[in-house]
Amino acid sequence: MLRVTRSTVDSLGTNALAEWDVAYPQHPEDQNILITTLDKIVNWGRNSSVWPFTFGLACCAIEMMATGAPKFDLDRFGAGAFRATPRQADLMIVAGTVTLKMGLRVKRLYEQMAEPRYVISMGACATAGGPYWQHGYHVMKGVDRVIPVDVYVPGCPPRPEALIEGVCLLREKIKRDSVLNRKRGSLL
Ligand code: SF4
Repeated sequence: MLRVTRSTVDSLGTNALAEWDVAYPQHPEDQNILITTLDKIVNWGRNSSVWPFTFGLACCAIEMMATGAPKFDLDRFGAGAFRATPRQADLMIVAGTVTLKMGLRVKRLYEQMAEPRYVISMGACATAGGPYWQHGYHVMKGVDRVIPVDVYVPGCPPRPEALIEGVCLLREKIKRDSVLNRKRGSLL
């Protein structure tokens, strides 16, 4: 059972209440009590504040930057606060070509992010090597060879709308996560 004051409810708005799937008490004396599950309220907080890591590898990163700009307004989803350090970031958007030399750095940066952490593979290069899949001896054929990926966004490069859809899919996955029974891959 979750106890929430009336002012908290007013500031969060009805959308939040719909996501929490709350039960409204009937008795007037219990009007400041909402009943929901731990998973629902924690996942609501997490999917409303997926902060990406400021991190780009090649041309796809330009589209990622455009996605964060005012025209596409990633802040609508609470994902506009790009962090300059992995320790404050929830989401790594692998935007660009992952060379074999860079792969180990990508892995290290991922490991410096706190759990729960999420990964979007943005574009053909990060997903499978892109134009370098056949003759690019220096290119990793998919970043999922070194870190787990939650969402793949296709394209060369993907448009900002495609990345936004990837973020929305990730948010849907986070809603299905379990706080107490979380294990890597449970989102997949
Ligand atoms: S997928 Fe295309 S646009 Fe993206 S980094 Fe590779 S070559 Fe560049």
